[in-house]
Amino acid sequence: MEMDKSPTKLDYYDDMWNLHSTATLVSHFKGDDGRHVLILDRTIFYPQGGGQPADTGFLIIHDSNIKFVVHDVRSKDGIVLHYGVFEGMGGEFEGTLEKGKEVSLSVDEDRRKLNSRLHSAGHLLDICLPKIGLGHLEPGKAYHFSDGPWVEYKGVVPQNEMQNKQKELEIEANALISMGGKVSADILLYDEAAKLCGGILPDYVPKESTPRIVQIGDNPGCPCGGTHVLDVSDITKIKVSQIRSKKGMTKVFYNVES
Ligand SMILES: [Zn+2]
Repeated sequence: MEMDKSPTKLDYYDDMWNLHSTATLVSHFKGDDGRHVLILDRTIFYPQGGGQPADTGFLIIHDSNIKFVVHDVRSKDGIVLHYGVFEGMGGEFEGTLEKGKEVSLSVDEDRRKLNSRLHSAGHLLDICLPKIGLGHLEPGKAYHFSDGPWVEYKGVVPQNEMQNKQKELEIEANALISMGGKVSADILLYDEAAKLCGGILPDYVPKESTPRIVQIGDNPGCPCGGTHVLDVSDITKIKVSQIRSKKGMTKVFYNVES
């Protein structure tokens, strides 16, 4: 298959809250698994990654009224792949779509809003840990999916403190939510970024790069490519359901509530 090699412009990087946009069709093909794939020059659709699930929604190809329902979005070598089906045609669409056509994009709002709340909530837990005496825990992997979200840290919590810390963490997080605070995402020079993140960036951020830093209010920021709420109060409420330490690692299970 032929693929345009230029990376897709990630419009959600600059504006995480815009759910309707236009773009230009770059290519259309069937993937190895038979699913249709559309590639655009730019997109507001979030591709699965960084612990956050993909957006869903639909694309309208102008001049033809063809509707493409987006079921999944992935990123490969900087190119965003929109997977889905042509509405009303099942898997039967065999036509060719002209490169250069204008396309309207619509991201499913309910799903994106939930994903953003879950992602911001994960960051908020990172921020709260030092405030409840667990500053030694180092953020690691995270899973901000609605089917059982968690954040993982290097370091442990003593068994006898587990229950108290779970309660304290939930109280602290909900206190910050009720205070509110703007969430920002900015592309910064490495040194500036490090300063915003408490003086140091994780090893996986290359020294010459310009990382995107997400910051909640005046709290220390962290490198992140995901989507977030506009204001921390939009998380509404966090439930910390369990803290578990095993083999030098700690997992915090949480969820958001209305
Ligand atoms: Zn993040």
